[in-house]
Amino acid sequence: MSVIDLERIQGASSEVVRDINRRIVLNLIRTRQPISRADLARTSGLQRSTISLIVEELVDEHWVIEGPTGRLPRGRRPTFLRLNDERVIIGIDIRPTQTTIALANVNGKFTSQEVIRTPADPELAVDALIGRIQALIHACRGQKIDGIGISLPGRVNADHLVFAPNLKWRDFDIRGPIAKAAGLEVELENAANACLLATVWFGRMESFRNLVQVTVSEGIGTGILINGQLARGLNNMAGEFGHVPLDPTGPPCGCGSRGCWEVFGSNRAAIRYFHESTSHAGDLSFLDLLSFADQGDTLAVKALEKMAHYLGRGMRMIVAGLAPERIVITGDLTRSWRLFGPIIEGEVRNQVLPGGCPPLLIPADDDGMSRLRGTVALVLQKHFGASREILA
Ligand SMILES: [Zn+2]
Repeated sequence: MSVIDLERIQGASSEVVRDINRRIVLNLIRTRQPISRADLARTSGLQRSTISLIVEELVDEHWVIEGPTGRLPRGRRPTFLRLNDERVIIGIDIRPTQTTIALANVNGKFTSQEVIRTPADPELAVDALIGRIQALIHACRGQKIDGIGISLPGRVNADHLVFAPNLKWRDFDIRGPIAKAAGLEVELENAANACLLATVWFGRMESFRNLVQVTVSEGIGTGILINGQLARGLNNMAGEFGHVPLDPTGPPCGCGSRGCWEVFGSNRAAIRYFHESTSHAGDLSFLDLLSFADQGDTLAVKALEKMAHYLGRGMRMIVAGLAPERIVITGDLTRSWRLFGPIIEGEVRNQVLPGGCPPLLIPADDDGMSRLRGTVALVLQKHFGASREILA
């Protein structure tokens, strides 16, 4: 049974209907391109004349281009429609140690990428970003830039970073100076929510309505889709499972508490386990640890197994609380899913409540680009609306 909150809806004006139809057509072209006008009418259920008017408008606005011509056994050859690759988006992924600035077209294809060290001071970081953005804008002459999307390892409320324990930036207006200097609209989003958006937008998971995205890196973040909507919560703070203490006497966490889930299940935790087991480790990255494990280093395997057990145990909170159909996991650990995925799955399965059903755990097809893809979707969503607007 679906419940409609009558206090929150209004009767649809003809402009609203036109806007909805336009978004339907734009999304059909995005997901099924190349597609003919006839197929658009057939798939959408809209009249041919309505489709023609909307397509004409989209071509005039350079969202859609025509061509090539299709082949049919008989009759007129249809002209296919597709999105215009000349429209581009600037995507920025800020992480505690490095920041990636990239350019992508409306189909999510990246055409350039630059990585810089993330400055410890947020004002210096914003200055550095503005310099890179202006260089990109200069290089894009002739292309239409639709906006800037930024993924952050923290929570953003009203333009300000309110909670970023691993980035350690103070409360700071990130959007204002960048939007002003670039003359473009800027969308900010938490990294886990950006990954969730990438999964729904580019990962062919639009049919799922209850989905949780777990991002595992320096910390653990979660993006939550409930009944097809992103759960934001008060002050945009929903999804901080990573900071629920599993052991209040455990090691200190960047949030000021102790023994949080991310203290036991993040990349940093695995590196700590490895250091605790050997005095000869030296400075090493999480990727080093993964390659040691791949080469059969027993201590590296044990450290990563311990991390995987804790990841699975923490996911029980998500399963018990939200009962998602799927949990999509993003992070470097998924590169060795064959070794560590079964451990996570075992931990989750062990604690399913009577009557409950364990969710399918899916390692995201992550090439380290999920957050960036999410920033592209963040900007596009403003124009397209999703077929479901999950971040509305
Ligand atoms: Zn914490």
